[in-house]
Amino acid sequence: MTPTTTIVQGPEISDFFDVRSLLSEDEQAIQDAVARFVDDRVLPIIADAFEEHRFPSELVSELAEMGLLGCNLEGYDCAGLSHVCYGVVNQELERGDAGIRSFVSVQGSLCMYPIHAFGSEEQKERWLPQMAAGEVIGCFGLTEADGGSDPGAMTTTAKKDGDDWILNGSKAWITNGTIADLAIVWATTEDGVRGFLVEKEMPGYTTREVEHKFSLRASITSELFFDNVRLPDSSMLPNVKGLSGPLGCLTQARYGIAWGAVGSALACFTEVLEYAKVRVLFGRPLSHTQTAQRRLADMSRRITTAQLLALQLGRMKDEGTLHHSQVSMAKWNNVRMALDVARDARDLLGASGISVEFCPIRHMLNLESVITYEGTETIHELVVGRELTGASAF
Ligand SMILES: Cc1cc2nc3c(=O)[nH]c(=O)nc-3n(C[C@H](O)[C@H](O)[C@H](O)COP(=O)(O)OP(=O)(O)OC[C@H]3O[C@@H](n4cnc5c(N)ncnc54)[C@H](O)[C@@H]3O)c2cc1C
Repeated sequence: MTPTTTIVQGPEISDFFDVRSLLSEDEQAIQDAVARFVDDRVLPIIADAFEEHRFPSELVSELAEMGLLGCNLEGYDCAGLSHVCYGVVNQELERGDAGIRSFVSVQGSLCMYPIHAFGSEEQKERWLPQMAAGEVIGCFGLTEADGGSDPGAMTTTAKKDGDDWILNGSKAWITNGTIADLAIVWATTEDGVRGFLVEKEMPGYTTREVEHKFSLRASITSELFFDNVRLPDSSMLPNVKGLSGPLGCLTQARYGIAWGAVGSALACFTEVLEYAKVRVLFGRPLSHTQTAQRRLADMSRRITTAQLLALQLGRMKDEGTLHHSQVSMAKWNNVRMALDVARDARDLLGASGISVEFCPIRHMLNLESVITYEGTETIHELVVGRELTGASAF
């Protein structure tokens, strides 16, 4: 028998293990559509928006038209996509900027999800279609100034007054706060922690934007203040009690972040790889040196591992077998990976790397928020440690 020789193509630089081939046709089509949106609509404006400390709100209606808001929820005008689809959406959006991905995460996973999962039928019908259409913007108020890692210490209270609730307190570091029409606010009641839907115009509810941020500059971060805000009983989420409510929402959003971080890392890696090929130092391209190749190969290795991890996470979520500690490990691993890749890419760009004309410094600064919000890296390590040992160290 004559042996046949098969010529195998080398791997794609941004998908070394061909993870895309593990996606269904629908998942690939959604990835392509969002990638085109990011290339055409986000990348041309995002460096300026970041520099100007401006959230590009002009993109909200387009995100809604593409069906990306609450896209993995069923019914109520939501797209009903799989969780893997939601993952690739997050990855592509964050390849543009974590600020855009944060907007979509907060709207879908932190605001629409709790209404969908814990709301009354009336609340779902009233809010979800408008939120999917981008006509109502949401924010999620859990963190308070005195310690976000320990939400059980919250001091915001809701007290019963006849049929109403009276809300007092404040929330810190809230994405979308000043532009939100509706805030999901978690407060302590005599009956434990409960979630409330607070509307923008309600008397006693005010917001203030956080200025001077050096991270997520193309995203709005705010403080929320509640001074005797009177809420009808119908504004409470009826089907959840205790911290499991907000923590369950965070698991949804952290899932998307684990995918999103891959997008940040890919943006940095692909840009610095091209740069290294044309940057000539000591008479040869930087990419021809052993040290640069080792650093680029290591970026690729870490990105590939994170891509595979994200996909398996998504498949488990779609099958309903995902545990929250697995989401913690994935958020921790993938955001740490992305931050390290972004910092290394920034360094390989030399002085150019400190300019926003190249994307790594923007992604690197964004990832300093991403590694802190939705549970800091340490908290996720402790969640995994608790799962392994059976003992809570926090
Ligand atoms: C840009 C941005 C947007 C955000 N958006 C939102 C939002 O939309 N909604 C919302 O509710 N919150 C939001 N947050 C808040 C975010 O979730 C919190 O910042 C985060 O949970 C950490 O809380 P903290 O900042 O109070 O830090 P702290 O809890 O004070 O933590 C400080 C340090 O202590 C470490 N630490 C904590 N506990 C332990 C322990 N037991 N052992 C050892 N070390 C520990 C932490 O890892 C961290 O390094 C946002 C934050 C940022 C930066």
